Amino acid sequence: MRDFQRRKDNMLIGGVSIAKLVGRFGTPLMVTDENALRENYRAVHNAFNAVFPTRVNYACKANSNLSLLRVLEQEGSCIDAVSIGEVEACLKAGFSAERILYTGVSVSDDEMRQLVERKVPINIDSIGQLRRLAALDNGHPISLRVNPDVGSGHSQKVVTGTKGAKFGIPKDEIVAAFAEAVKLGFSPKGLHAHTGSGGSDPTVFGRVTEVLVGIFERVRGELGIDLEFLDIGGGIGIPYRPEELRADLEAIASEVASKLQGSGVRTLVIEPGRYIVADTTVLLTRVNDVKSTPVKEYVLVDAGFNTLIRPAFYDSYHHVAVANKFGQQAQLKYDVAGPLCETGDYLAKERYLPKVEVGDTICVYDVGAYGFSMSSNYNTRPRCAEVLVNEGKAFLIREREDIKDLFRHQKIPSRLGP
Ligand SMILES: *Cc1c(COP(=O)(O)O)cnc(C)c1O
Repeated sequence: MRDFQRRKDNMLIGGVSIAKLVGRFGTPLMVTDENALRENYRAVHNAFNAVFPTRVNYACKANSNLSLLRVLEQEGSCIDAVSIGEVEACLKAGFSAERILYTGVSVSDDEMRQLVERKVPINIDSIGQLRRLAALDNGHPISLRVNPDVGSGHSQKVVTGTKGAKFGIPKDEIVAAFAEAVKLGFSPKGLHAHTGSGGSDPTVFGRVTEVLVGIFERVRGELGIDLEFLDIGGGIGIPYRPEELRADLEAIASEVASKLQGSGVRTLVIEPGRYIVADTTVLLTRVNDVKSTPVKEYVLVDAGFNTLIRPAFYDSYHHVAVANKFGQQAQLKYDVAGPLCETGDYLAKERYLPKVEVGDTICVYDVGAYGFSMSSNYNTRPRCAEVLVNEGKAFLIREREDIKDLFRHQKIPSRLGP
């Protein structure tokens, strides 16, 4: 959670008044502060590089907006991509192929063929995928993903590293997988694991590093392969609640580095998504209605889980404020809910806010990660617009969809008329 300034009762982001943004661009609207994005990238890059040579692969599934990717490209970031669409977005945003590492699960031959054409290194998820890639190009740059049997996460739905999760090659088969890769003609460059999303306990990052170092040493000792990098994945959490503390990047970095010292590993790779983008962006949504029920008070806004799915899907907490009454005393307890015809459609529950009226703007914090990228057209609603603010100026970086966009790919068979 970032602190926001205000001018009178009006919240500001990146020096721009939220009232002006809403007036100019409408709602629902996602607004990203460019300087916050640069700051987050630098914080994580510098914390790790102070203790070990580290490449930061931004996990762009968190947010793949082209303008945000441009900013991170300028900062010198590299990329973790999980689909050919994300790879194309990053190439379009100016990243060269070798700055991208593709980590997929359930990868088709067709997708691998496109990655081979574009010379994008592939992080292999299974022995089957390794063999299918060998048939396409056994000289392609690869690394292997292990299931480290170390899990973490803010919700059971985002734990990826436990035994039995669908990701990676099981730990007790990984050395054999490296042997097979070499037999097939590959020169594997690295080893990867990702434990899950949303943790900030340094010991979890230390444990996964230890597992990887153990495998790194066996692969060197038993197979004579000297891997260039160990990739410990992403998952650094952020404080979504006011009382939570920011992850201690220095503590995480030094815990990880302590496991690497003396191992012979030359490069560490990390793949933060959430940490880099989450708190750079707010969702602005207009109050359409205020409703009293015998049980609770509802603030009904124009963004639902079509725009921000995290509360409905993960029970996630997002802080909210009334942007045009910022700094006013809280008076009443509200649930903030959206326009979708689903009982589970809510953004925030049991929040104390100043008295809310129709036409107010609710600001939802920390939506930069897994916000727009998980949004949908459910209830046949167009997706929202995105704006980038930088030192007092606002730039539209994604147009609001219109209703016509929703029909663009549909066909009515002629026998159905009209
Ligand atoms: C999702 C993902 C990440 C990023 O996770 P965050 O919690 O956003 O940091 C990194 N690596 C892989 C392989 C992922 O699937």
